[in-house]
Parts: sequence; C-alpha cells; structure tokens
Amino acid sequence: MKIRTSHIQFGSLACLILIVTLSFSQVTVSTPSSSSDALAPYHYDTYTEMTQELQTLAAQHPDIMSLTSIGRTYQGRDLWLVKLSRNVTTEEHEPSLLFMGAHHGNEKPGPAVLLFFIKCMVENYTKPSTECVSGGYNNDSVSPDQVRSVLNSTQIYLIPMVNPDGYEANTRKNCVPNHGPFGLTKKVTSYGVNLNRNYADPWYLYYLLPTQYGCLFCLDDSSMNYHGPFPFSENETKAVKAFAANHNLSISISYHSYGQFIFYPWMHTSKPVPDEKTFLSLGENMSRIDGYTLYTGKTYLVPRYGGTLGTSENFLYRTCGAYAFTVELCLERAPTNAQVMYTTCLRQTEVQLYLCQRALSLPPAKIRHQE
Ligand SMILES: [Zn+2]
Repeated sequence: MKIRTSHIQFGSLACLILIVTLSFSQVTVSTPSSSSDALAPYHYDTYTEMTQELQTLAAQHPDIMSLTSIGRTYQGRDLWLVKLSRNVTTEEHEPSLLFMGAHHGNEKPGPAVLLFFIKCMVENYTKPSTECVSGGYNNDSVSPDQVRSVLNSTQIYLIPMVNPDGYEANTRKNCVPNHGPFGLTKKVTSYGVNLNRNYADPWYLYYLLPTQYGCLFCLDDSSMNYHGPFPFSENETKAVKAFAANHNLSISISYHSYGQFIFYPWMHTSKPVPDEKTFLSLGENMSRIDGYTLYTGKTYLVPRYGGTLGTSENFLYRTCGAYAFTVELCLERAPTNAQVMYTTCLRQTEVQLYLCQRALSLPPAKIRHQE
C-alpha cells in the first residue's frame, strides 16, 4: 500500500491552508525549544507526569480548561477527560469534538499529540494577536486569533490516555486478568483486552464470518487482539460509552500509531457509509494538512466484509452520529526523534483546529442510533 510522506513543505502547506480558509501565523510550544533539544531523544510523559501537567494547566486556566475523571482502570488510574472551551463549566449549544489517544498502550505518540494541542490552546488563548512566539522551528502556523475563535465557538473534549495501565506497561492491551475467552474459568488464563476491539459495533460478525475477522485471534484471550468476554466489558470502553451518550458529539479522532493513515467507518466492510461524502470531504482536507493517506478502500462493486470489529469509530458513528476518524500517527510506533514528534504534534494541532472550524457548519450525520 502506498504511503504518502508526511513532510509538507511550508509553501505548499500555506496554499493548502488558504484553501481551507484558515489563517495561521505562530504557535506557542513547550517542547522542544532549541536545535539542541531537537537532537535529544524525545521524552514521552509517564502517566504521572501527564497527570501533573494536566492538573497544573487546569489550575492555571480554570476559565477555559477543566479536568475530570470519567472512570478508573483495573489498576486504579483515573481516566482523565479534559474540556477546552470558553465558559468551560457550562454545557453550551456549541459543536462538540472528542479527541482520544492510546487505546493501545504501546502507541505513545497519541497522548503526546493531545497534550501538545492542550498546551497550544491554553497558552495562546490570551496572547495578543500580533505576538510572535516561535518554538524555534520554522513551520509554526497557529495564531492566537484562531485559537480564541475556536475556543469561543466549540467545546473540545479530550481523553489523552484511554488505556493508562497499558501505557505504563507499554503493552497494546489493558492489564486486566482474563478468565478464559468468555470470562467463565476461575483461574487467570492471561492478561489484557484490546480496547479497540471491545466496542459493541458489530460483534456478532465474528461468529457469522469467522475467517474474515480473524475470529481465532479475537477469541484467544492471550492474543493481542482479544476482544474481551463481552462488548463494553472494560472500564475504559464503558467510560467512553457513558461520556459519548451524554454529549452531542460532532467529530472525533482516535489517535493510534503507526502508518500515517486516516481511516473512517466502516471499519469492518467496504460498504460506503450514509455520510460518505462528508467523511471524504473532512478526510481529504485532513490529509492535505498532515500529508497522511486517507484510506477509503471502497472501490468494490460488491461490498467486502473484513477489517476490524469493535472499534471506537464504528461505535461513535453508528451510535452517536459523530464523524469519527482514526489517525495512525508517524512511521514507527513511538519515534524518539524530537523533531519528528514536534512536526507530528504541530500538524495534528492544525488538523484538530481545522475540524473545530468545520464542526461549526457541518450537517448532522444521517445515522444516529443513540442507545
Ligand atoms: Zn492502535
């Protein structure tokens, strides 16, 4: 499969940004801030470090940032939910977006991208329009005016680490003890459920079309793709489900790594979704900004069945009516090159801001089966 390079020259990027009518200038960033920093290996925050940073930022910016826990993991870690918006303590009639990272604990760039975005938003919100606050690189391209406009007109929710237990253990799955594939044996047979196979949508196809969906792997509780004893069996997916049920989500991204791809529903068939045109429009513009390949895979006369069952995108789209994307960041699972990570974070900040602006004029999804 052809993978397009993520590196976009600034000149062409500026043209593309013009096309989507965004006005970018400069961005405030915390890391890295000099060429010598760029040479040092990139540091991924631990869960504790991220928690402390989020608490500090929320305390410093209580008018535009809130931090709450929407659940706890098996090992007792809080699942943090960040909200960014003017009048942050009030639920308003503004478009709502959800950005998530690290359903898979060993995919570290997602939380890094989301923490970067949070810092960029809160640090730029009160900056003068003309202030030039470069982080030391040339392609800085987000303006305080744009940040204010977005925070004043949307509600942005982030779950930076959906799977903190797996993140700390550097493993794909979470860390729950399994009791056989259906949870029926007394002894512990293995550890961990793949959270991005644990959403409900649509589990039954494992049993109808077992070869297309790698049923053996999903039913083997020691497999990296084990889908859990039943849909929403896990604290983490339960928390996302409960949050989504109580918010009128417009657009969502779930960050994974790696591959530099953009995916949208359906994740389990080549059959087009009812909102195919809108997904394509959003996805193509995202691709223009970050250079990633928009994966459609829908060129078949007869829809094919195969792919991934139990993903967050299918659930958020079918059940909640959100235009839900997966973005596979980077060309490796956890790059250690600081400049690569800086560029990744900045491009995704631009993608997220673009989606916030699009959310203001987006038609409601045709599909919505709220439970
Ligand atoms: Zn993943």
